[in-house]
Amino acid sequence: MRLDDNAEKIIRRLESAGFEAYAVGGCVRDALMGIEPEDWDITTSARPEEVKLLFSHTFDTGIEHGTVTVLMGRAGYEVTTYRLDGKYSDHRRPDHVEYTASLYEDVARRDFTINSMAYHPDRGLVDYFGGRRDLEKKVIRCVGDPEKRFNEDALRMLRAVRFAGRLGFSIDPATREAAIKLAPTLLKVSRERVQEELTKMLTGSHPQKISMLKDLNLFDYLIPHPEDLSLADMEAPGKVEPVKALRFAAFLYPGGPDKCRKVLKELKFDNDTIKAAVLWTTHINDPIPEDEAAMRRLMLAVGKEAVPGLIQLFYAAGRVGSGQKAKLDGLYRSQKDAPIAVIELAVDGDDLIGAGIPKGKEVGRVLAYLQQKVVEDPALNTKERLIGAAKDHFFSAPLSDMV
Ligand code: ATP
Ligand code: MG
Repeated sequence: MRLDDNAEKIIRRLESAGFEAYAVGGCVRDALMGIEPEDWDITTSARPEEVKLLFSHTFDTGIEHGTVTVLMGRAGYEVTTYRLDGKYSDHRRPDHVEYTASLYEDVARRDFTINSMAYHPDRGLVDYFGGRRDLEKKVIRCVGDPEKRFNEDALRMLRAVRFAGRLGFSIDPATREAAIKLAPTLLKVSRERVQEELTKMLTGSHPQKISMLKDLNLFDYLIPHPEDLSLADMEAPGKVEPVKALRFAAFLYPGGPDKCRKVLKELKFDNDTIKAAVLWTTHINDPIPEDEAAMRRLMLAVGKEAVPGLIQLFYAAGRVGSGQKAKLDGLYRSQKDAPIAVIELAVDGDDLIGAGIPKGKEVGRVLAYLQQKVVEDPALNTKERLIGAAKDHFFSAPLSDMV
């Protein structure tokens, strides 16, 4: 396998100072499979303070867990001291960590054989647990006794499904049985960690593999009220772009917007993600626009930026076929610069006040009226025509009609 140049530099620098260092974990797994790793992690016998002395640009990204990020050019490399993990409780990371002088102990704490390999530019692959064989056999297998490993950290059950789905691997029978047996302990894991795993599953290249959670009995323990997830669509996420909120909207839309909000809240998602996903699930049954004006009405209803995602959801939910989707995309492109928002109108509140509309809430009402008119007919969007329309509307309609 080929080691990243910067990772090799870091390893050699650490070793020339008398420490051991290896590339480890996911990057070794990916590189052996011929996949370009997203990031290269380094494990070393050096302590964080010692790592920091050896490199000019470092960040304390997880110093309490022994991790220092070394900056090489613009890329960051996580350099972590060999460690044993303390017990994981409800947190994202183990409660406490204990350093060790042994690479073996460091890799023995890792979850799966394929994630437990280390690589050194001179000494080659270090594979204590048969990771290479399991890569060839395409199996996800725990390092050591699966029940013990899942008891230490129940999140590993979700990780097993995520890796199996992403790599197209099967789960070794003993590992699988342990997950089925211990599935309820998933409720002990913090929802933030569950959120992160589900996000990785759903934003990856095979989101439909999230259905494997059902086979392992894990699906019922993702949130405290699993019935809210009962209508989830496993196929739809793969039909929309890998944008987090959009993939979750595609996953959750069959239950409706309220369930979508509830599930995402239970998973402790941030407000922006919840807002975006709920907006999409709210509008997934809106009329499919047939012409330009209808497209502009949709843009007004959901906001311009949300329309491309909504079109994907129409398709993912089976409301339109691929031909009709392409037509909708075309309609959107033709209208995306049309004035829709109040801010895009050729007049603002001051213009209206100048034209005699009384200051105060009338201005807002007239602007909303003009917005509707312009959505129907963008050619109206000149200062002159809008002021005219505003005056006609305001001075012809009795005040009581405008409330
Ligand atoms: P990805 O490509 O998704 O980042 P990865 O294997 O790099 O996959 P990370 O979550 O980045 O996964 O973790 C890096 C390494 O740390 C893993 O390869 C594994 O060796 C170890 N690891 C991560 N999480 C756990 C865990 N919960 N239990 C045991 N080992 C873990
Ligand atoms: Mg990683």
